Amino acid sequence: MVRKGRAGSSPAPGTAVNGSRADAAPGPRGRIAPTPSGYLHAGNAFNFLLTERLVRHLGGHLLLRIDDLDVGRMRPEFVEDIFRSLEWLGIAWDDGPSGPDALERVWSQRHRSPQYRKCLSELRERGALYACDHSRTSLLEDRSPGKPYCAHRSGDLPFDAPGAVWRLRVPEDTRIVIQQFDKGGEEVDLMSVMPDPVLRVRDGRPGYQIASLCDDLVQGIDLIVRGADLLPSSACQTHLARVLGRTAFMDVRFVHHGLIFGQDGLKLSKSAGADSLKAMRERNADPTVLKAMADKKAMEILEAHGD
Ligand SMILES: [Zn+2]
Repeated sequence: MVRKGRAGSSPAPGTAVNGSRADAAPGPRGRIAPTPSGYLHAGNAFNFLLTERLVRHLGGHLLLRIDDLDVGRMRPEFVEDIFRSLEWLGIAWDDGPSGPDALERVWSQRHRSPQYRKCLSELRERGALYACDHSRTSLLEDRSPGKPYCAHRSGDLPFDAPGAVWRLRVPEDTRIVIQQFDKGGEEVDLMSVMPDPVLRVRDGRPGYQIASLCDDLVQGIDLIVRGADLLPSSACQTHLARVLGRTAFMDVRFVHHGLIFGQDGLKLSKSAGADSLKAMRERNADPTVLKAMADKKAMEILEAHGD
């Protein structure tokens, strides 16, 4: 199969290992960051196309990063689907894996796991984490005004307790200003949108929020395009960067776009159903409509920004 990515099986010249910043592209560095936990859908395609359009228009650098930390949900056919989908959409990227082999050998998040763990250790040393063995459901059911989110916030459960997750202790009234590329600063009350997020999951793996933040930092990402449903993650990661003193993250500009809904009017999920890109390819559908939607949205965003 012909890959659209210009990166070969190893990082391109001038690029440090795993895509850390070593180029001199004048525009922003953006990333396409799919998770191989199912077949991609039209909403994913819209996000990839919009990211590509914005980065290219601004003369920036596009990275493909496959969020493969959660190996339990990952399947080889989902990884292959990412590359087939990007090819179908005609998206080329400047850095990142050219295929499943390069992902495994060079670009997998598993290779950056020590960096995620280092961030977790730093947070723990700063007293920002606590261990908790509550279920998310029980915490939500017990929630009431004036009551701590979780009784473990006091730190009474050892970090090595069996089945414990590590949560971030978010101070009450933590207000985060998200720098929206198209709208300017937007204030978010972190505790109301993402109370004490899990940063290390039960099996000891670093969670999504830590991995995503560390990757964006090491890869010099400064334009993050994601669905509006991930606004709480943007707030969480901005807060984490502040606690860790990673000031470079304060330069990140975000685009949070609306979501595309399925034919049944529901939010799309990764499946092999009719809304999957796989099914669209199999019925010889054309991605022109998706491309036109992304072009239109990109122009709206660029106009709002003043480009
Ligand atoms: Zn708890």
